[in-house]
Amino acid sequence: MNIYDDVGYLKGVGPKMAEKLNKCGIYTILDLLLYFPRDYEFISIANNVEEFNDKDKIITEATVEGILKDIRTKTGKVLSTVLFKSGNTKFKGIWFNQPYAKNSFRVNGKYILSGKIEKHNKEIHLSNPKIMRNITLDDNKILAKYSLRDDLSNNFLNKIITEALVQINIIENLPRSILDKYKFISLDEAIKSIHSPMDSKILNEAKRRLKFQELFTYSLKILLLKEINSSVKGIGFKISDELKELKEKLPFQLTQAQARVVREVLLDQKKPVPMNRLVQGDVGSGKTIIALITMFNVIKNGYQVAMMAPTEILAKQHYAEAEKIYKNFGIKVKLLTGSTTGKNKEIIKEEIAQGKIDLLIGTHALIEENVVFDNLGMIVTDEQHRFGVGQRSKLSNKGENIDVLVMSATPIPRTLYLYLYGDLDVSIVDTLPPGRKPIDTYYVNKNESNRVYNFALKEIEEGRQVYVVCPLVEENEDIKLTSVTNLYDELKEKYFRNINISILHGKMSNKDKNEIMDRFKSGEIKVLISTTVIEVGVNVPNATVMIIENAERFGLSQLHQLRGRVGRGSHKSYCILVAEIKSETTRRRMEIMKSSNDGFYIAEEDLRIRGSGEVFGMRQSGESGLLLADLSTDFQLFKVANLEAKALLANQEEEEQRVVKEIINSIERSSKYICFN
Ligand code: ADP
Ligand code: MG
Repeated sequence: MNIYDDVGYLKGVGPKMAEKLNKCGIYTILDLLLYFPRDYEFISIANNVEEFNDKDKIITEATVEGILKDIRTKTGKVLSTVLFKSGNTKFKGIWFNQPYAKNSFRVNGKYILSGKIEKHNKEIHLSNPKIMRNITLDDNKILAKYSLRDDLSNNFLNKIITEALVQINIIENLPRSILDKYKFISLDEAIKSIHSPMDSKILNEAKRRLKFQELFTYSLKILLLKEINSSVKGIGFKISDELKELKEKLPFQLTQAQARVVREVLLDQKKPVPMNRLVQGDVGSGKTIIALITMFNVIKNGYQVAMMAPTEILAKQHYAEAEKIYKNFGIKVKLLTGSTTGKNKEIIKEEIAQGKIDLLIGTHALIEENVVFDNLGMIVTDEQHRFGVGQRSKLSNKGENIDVLVMSATPIPRTLYLYLYGDLDVSIVDTLPPGRKPIDTYYVNKNESNRVYNFALKEIEEGRQVYVVCPLVEENEDIKLTSVTNLYDELKEKYFRNINISILHGKMSNKDKNEIMDRFKSGEIKVLISTTVIEVGVNVPNATVMIIENAERFGLSQLHQLRGRVGRGSHKSYCILVAEIKSETTRRRMEIMKSSNDGFYIAEEDLRIRGSGEVFGMRQSGESGLLLADLSTDFQLFKVANLEAKALLANQEEEEQRVVKEIINSIERSSKYICFN
């Protein structure tokens, strides 16, 4: 069996199960092995149940002494009880509303049980005990807990992962020298231990090894990209005479920072090597116009340009802007997104292939779909933190050695972007256009949210609009977070009975999302309650209040991004963070948001307060493509991995060269950075 084989090949995985696994993103054996536990349960082996404390999770061997009749409690639950004896200690096994659970037991039968201890006066209860099979009672246990969907069970995942690990022989893929230097355990042991750790020491070792592996491969890929980028020939564009006229006709004067970045990009365009430049600028710093001016130059050189945005809403916005700025310059602009109808799509594709369209704006459907350009000269991607390295390399493959410009509104600390985007040159737009009113930021404790919504009501009375954002709720999460639909119901009922409010989240179709956004833009909808889908680039100048629920769950940079949705018009704007402030760290983080409007400062601070902030928000992994490593807490390891990757590439010895080749092969076959054969 091969790691790239379909999971369906595994014993016990039928077509139905395979489909369920696919829904979790598991297609191949490799995906399965890289489906790491989201958490672990630490369970003690109890020879003597009496020695343990209330709430301890234990495993113990016990004999059934009796099975009681079910009773109905005052609250209407069905209570089932089995009497056990373990050693000399008697205890009760207790289940609520699971009358069938006791049927697995026979009087005098001996079972290995797992459950949680509950002490009631003199009685010991084992709550919700489960029979454990195939388990030895010699050591304490750490049970992996996986993210589950549908009716996939933890046991099932455990079973098939164990099965896969038996079938697959994981070959070491780091050079001996690195393993020795950092005392890493073998790859095989690391993968096995992350799924079923013998103890917490080995679990930590496995994590350290795999995080390193991930960051190392990531670094290697960045370094390779840089090498490739700098070794190829590109187009040397002329500086168009019409640029001057375009600049004169702009609705505003460029800020100094914008003018500087435009110059930097134009200089790149002149050079006969492909441009790979990242333009970083805080929300609202005016990056779009930089793209429009520099794309103009390429178009006037007779080439086509593609501009990609992460969402359809943004793509539409850019399209409108381009139409406005390019009016009277004879430039043909088209929009291609997921909701472009089939027939239109065909026409656009044809015109693109024939070179009739100068600028094609769209979502990343642009690279996924088989769009063939006649004469592509430049690609611009907006809000690039949504585009991983994988997409970055795919992008530049689209045309031959074309110029690539990526724009990001996530201010990434300088120290970090060298590692993350080392394959790119960087320009920074570090001033905001004039006339911006700073946004006032406040934070309140959750129990004070009353005040917040009354304030929002007042703003609505004044004719303004309001955003309310809450974090995504992951299934199976124990923590009670405000989910978008619950929040909608609650707010509608409590505050906004007679006000037009609406919901927006990622699971909605693009059509629905667009429609709601349009109605919000037109002012019809007064309050928009959403997940972070509105995070990027949306521009509604009349919205003046941004309320963020469970603000403690977001990375500071993400909070800053969200805050940037307001303060875009002439009215004073507010950002209110509603947080559960339980720790000093949370308070400090909220305080940073309150005291600063500078995205770069905030990002540096976010990185500095380790363990709490994540540079890219709650689930940065999806965006950077990293599974285990957390860029804020594992920054030191990232540095080390980067150094080692550099050293490996420079090393001419046979083993090192072989390792590089193997890793390159693996990253070409999978989008994941923990790779093996
Ligand atoms: P972002 O960097 O977040 O993408 P945008 O490009 O969307 O910012 O610009 C935000 C707003 O500022 C837009 O409405 C844009 O028209 C305006 N803007 C950009 N540059 C200037 C400028 N130099 N002077 C005045 N307004 C500007
Ligand atoms: Mg933008």
